Amino acid sequence: MLESSTSSRESGQSRTCFCGLTANQFTATTPMNGGRRFFKCPRPEDIACRYWEWRDEELPAHVSMFIHTQKMSLNAIRKERNNLKKTLDEFLGSNASDLKKVSCLEKKVSNLVKFETMEKNFVVVMGIFCLFCSREEHVLML
Ligand SMILES: [Zn+2]
Repeated sequence: MLESSTSSRESGQSRTCFCGLTANQFTATTPMNGGRRFFKCPRPEDIACRYWEWRDEELPAHVSMFIHTQKMSLNAIRKERNNLKKTLDEFLGSNASDLKKVSCLEKKVSNLVKFETMEKNFVVVMGIFCLFCSREEHVLML
């Protein structure tokens, strides 16, 4: 009896659901059946047939609870990771806008420097011009 139940469990690596499709295999994460594998129709919930079957024998309660607890802990870590990723994305996003502002300010400063250079060149040219024009008020400007 035990042998036949074992052989039927091991021989069935795949199952066919009522739709005639190869059933998908899942692993339960509930406190009562944590880690216990089962077969289910591969179609989406709303159009799936009612086929559902355990693949594994019932596990000892402490093993199921341990697997369930590990799964909950993993989910909490994944949630924390996603939150951190979101925070990082927001941080990088806000930095991108800061970088644009900095780039815009750099352009303005560069234009100011160009304008200042042009102004200095103008003063030099005017100075040279005024040396030749020799009007008293222009010479005093230098
Ligand atoms: Zn099905």
